[in-house]
Amino acid sequence: MPRRKKGIVTLAFDDAYLDTYKHAIRYLNKLNIKSTIAVPSLFIGKRFENRPLVGLKELKDNLKRGHEIASHTLTHPNLSRLSSKDKSEAISEIAESKKELEHLLHNKVNSFIFPYINKNQSKSVKSKTRPYYKSARLTTNSPCFNKIPVKNPYSTIGFAIMKKHSLFYLKKQVDYAEKKKCWLIMVFHLVGKKNTLSYHRPKPYRFFMHIDGFKKLIDYILSKDIIILTQKEVARRFDHGI
Ligand SMILES: [Zn+2]
Repeated sequence: MPRRKKGIVTLAFDDAYLDTYKHAIRYLNKLNIKSTIAVPSLFIGKRFENRPLVGLKELKDNLKRGHEIASHTLTHPNLSRLSSKDKSEAISEIAESKKELEHLLHNKVNSFIFPYINKNQSKSVKSKTRPYYKSARLTTNSPCFNKIPVKNPYSTIGFAIMKKHSLFYLKKQVDYAEKKKCWLIMVFHLVGKKNTLSYHRPKPYRFFMHIDGFKKLIDYILSKDIIILTQKEVARRFDHGI
């Protein structure tokens, strides 16, 4: 029996910052909401772009609570740049990060998240994710909606939320996904009480959201006729032609 078509929201946390875990993911745990957490596997328990990342203990705890842990390469390179110089190195970042994560977590890793804000990747790099993963996601910093049913799970696009996006603006995107019955992947990086400096420029980090706004946004999503699923869950759904 096909289920009634509804809009879908995926909550994704790229880079798995410890602050984001303490504030945002713990808030989701209280509400029993699942997310997709993308971690560069060689930085687990270390610092990445001057911010501490979650350790293995937190990742295992997240997994136990039903969150998805997705691969975000080993060392977070820009894969489009890397693949033009060294294709085998790019492939190894894609393949080895899965092996490493599965080894650490004793759990299957089904989803791949490309690092950096880059809506486009070469076809050949995208195709390299196919042998290892069930789906792959790119990221852009303007709203982007994926069609349901998902035709190509290796070409999904997430919307990276930035501090310049007001709560009002973000709610509008949720409204649109609900109304058009499409799939909105909301990508968060740093969610907490205090922002940090950008690693790349002497300015505050652009991909920050205050925890108060985040909580309001989640409460808003819950008030809508929309379902919250992890990337893996969405890919699985359309695997069976639903
Ligand atoms: Zn990243």
